[in-house]
Amino acid sequence: MSEPSIFTRIVAREIPAEILFENERIIAIRDINPQAPVHLLVIPKQEYPTVVELAAADPALLAEVVAVGQQLATEHANGEFRLVFNSGASTGQTVFHVHAHVLSGGGEFPALKEGSLA
Ligand code: AMP
Repeated sequence: MSEPSIFTRIVAREIPAEILFENERIIAIRDINPQAPVHLLVIPKQEYPTVVELAAADPALLAEVVAVGQQLATEHANGEFRLVFNSGASTGQTVFHVHAHVLSGGGEFPALKEGSLA
């Protein structure tokens, strides 16, 4: 069996994190290396490597991830947000346990510049 991901270890409270939301199926934490004034991660507790496998196996859970992203963007910013799923190492994915980046809060961060997809 493969090792539990860093996010599964956060769910198990083996690694500390700032947990902002949790229910039976999802946990949301603050990213330790923020790329925007508000940079949160919404993570299904079940380990799928990427959003592609999540969408195929459990589209309702993917929809729930989006809804939690909206809820957190409303609580922590103005309700508008960029939702990013890196899918594959060549796109910057480093943790192969699906997670949505919720980027919000405007400001001068490159990740939220108008016209930027970075
Ligand atoms: P990705 O590059 O799309 O796989 O995103 C992984 C994200 O997880 C990065 O933005 C990291 O900063 C973030 N990250 C890694 N370890 C932790 C941690 N222990 N607590 C919070 N965020 C983390």
